[in-house]
Amino acid sequence: MSQLQRIAIAQTQLQESKILLTPEQLHYLVRVLRLREGDRFIAMDGMGKWWLAILAGEQAEVLEAMVVETELPVAITLLVALPKGNGFDDVVRMSTELGVVCIAPVTSDRTLLNPSPQKLERWRRIATEAAEQSERAIVPTILEPVAFSTALSLFATYQKYICEGRGNYPHLKKCLEDQGKMLIVIAIGPEGGWTEAEVEKAVLNGFQAVSLGRRILRAVTAPIVALSLISAICEV
Ligand code: SAH
Repeated sequence: MSQLQRIAIAQTQLQESKILLTPEQLHYLVRVLRLREGDRFIAMDGMGKWWLAILAGEQAEVLEAMVVETELPVAITLLVALPKGNGFDDVVRMSTELGVVCIAPVTSDRTLLNPSPQKLERWRRIATEAAEQSERAIVPTILEPVAFSTALSLFATYQKYICEGRGNYPHLKKCLEDQGKMLIVIAIGPEGGWTEAEVEKAVLNGFQAVSLGRRILRAVTAPIVALSLISAICEV
């Protein structure tokens, strides 16, 4: 199955055993991927379901539902302060490859950037492409950017960690080994780091401050390290 191309579709495009393709999807399948009538591909709804489909005219027929087992056993949300420039594109792409299910971009005391709505669309497209590429069953949800303090109260039932490179905090690895929750939030700061007040506020909201090791990582590297640690511990 690995040779088959994958495209993400909206659930509403599936009507009985047909997939109603958008003109963009048809263009992609036919002009870009060079699929012909009768060729097979995989349609994924980004919410856990895959279907084996066959191109039939301007639409597709579903042949069968498929089982996908590429998701992590824990649902990880990345709460991440927007880095400068296009750094967030890399965060979205790589954290999708590593299995994140939700990305919550936040503005913090040391982020000045106020992202445009076009950025959100771009990040969602990057997440979709990365999920297709990594054979994910789920396309991560990218939330609208909100202020850090607003985001803090969104994850009541989660096990929550805030990564802080300075201070004597326990290592994330150690903390993960002691916890059994299935829902995890990891907060990563911007290039300038979190302010002390932000870390305190997070802790008051049930976050545990953790370290990712003794070196200071770049804002783009830290989420990758955190996600790699989680999958190393939670995935057998
Ligand atoms: N300029 C800041 C570093 C910011 S790094 C300073 O000098 O302290 C960007 C973010 O990555 C941090 O806010 C933190 O969330 C995360 N981070 C980087 N290195 C880390 C480490 N060793 N442990 C935990 N978090 C780290």
